[in-house]
Amino acid sequence: MREISAPDVYLIAKTSLVDENIKAFLKDIGSPEWTPDKDLSDGEKLIEAAGRICYRSWQGYDPDKPQGTNPNVERVRSSSKEYIGNILAHEHGSVLEHTSVTFICRNVSRVVTHELVRHRAGMAYSQESLRYVRLDNLDFWLPEAVQGNNVAKKKFQDVVDFLENVQKDLAKIFDIDNLKDFASKKKLTSMFRRLAPIGLGTSIMVTGNLRAWRHVIAMRTSGGAEEEIRLLTGKIAVILKKEYPAVFQDMSKNEDTGEWVFTHKKV
Ligand SMILES: Cc1cc2nc3c(=O)[nH]c(=O)nc-3n(C[C@H](O)[C@H](O)[C@H](O)COP(=O)(O)OP(=O)(O)OC[C@H]3O[C@@H](n4cnc5c(N)ncnc54)[C@H](O)[C@@H]3O)c2cc1C
Repeated sequence: MREISAPDVYLIAKTSLVDENIKAFLKDIGSPEWTPDKDLSDGEKLIEAAGRICYRSWQGYDPDKPQGTNPNVERVRSSSKEYIGNILAHEHGSVLEHTSVTFICRNVSRVVTHELVRHRAGMAYSQESLRYVRLDNLDFWLPEAVQGNNVAKKKFQDVVDFLENVQKDLAKIFDIDNLKDFASKKKLTSMFRRLAPIGLGTSIMVTGNLRAWRHVIAMRTSGGAEEEIRLLTGKIAVILKKEYPAVFQDMSKNEDTGEWVFTHKKV
């Protein structure tokens, strides 16, 4: 057994803009004056643009720009942070779905991945396959209560070591290393994994749009959620708040409970 520490989270992809084509579009509708906040991320610019296209509210009405302005709109919010804050307050959260972020979560157990994949709306997953990837050394994270209890820790280590040896024994019994065709290896590998513990460490790639991430963070950092997924989504919350301070402006951490809470829940 290789004891692993808390989950590792790698932000590996995020939505970016094709700037020249946004500019081309704005030019074609008469060049309305739209000035997103300086240093605003691409993802948040896209969300702001999505909101402004809904109401043709790039700027206040200008009769010389009939295709780019709206006679019903006299003035517009000029600050992007304020604009996105207003979207959150009005629960116009569908525009947040335009921006997606992808993480690789490493050293997470199958306990966590089973829970994470229950979030379907706006999420995509690719998980390490234990039909293809044969287990030999088992990575294992020990929950807090186990770390602080030597007797329990020994019990965990013994059982995981035993199950690790079961994987190695089965490989020998079926002589899998000398099999040539991959289909047979896959069938056996899948059979072996039935005797692997649910707590073993694995990897999963997760993409979510920002509306979905807000919901996942709220649900999975809450006090009632399981401790490992709370650690994982807590790390994701820190990264997303830094990357997208306007979209996550109403999210804060309760330092007493570790929960990340939102003023506007489920936008
Ligand atoms: C503390 C905790 C304990 C849990 N315990 C259990 C348990 O004991 N057993 C168990 O099976 N699960 C359990 N779950 C999982 C839970 O029931 C959900 O399946 C999971 O949290 C996914 O959340 P979601 O349903 O909001 O789905 P998401 O896919 O995250 O969807 C986001 C939102 O979109 C809407 N939506 C999504 N899909 C649909 C749809 N098909 N139809 C209509 N609206 C939709 C809903 O408003 C939903 O809240 C638990 C979750 C938590 C956080």
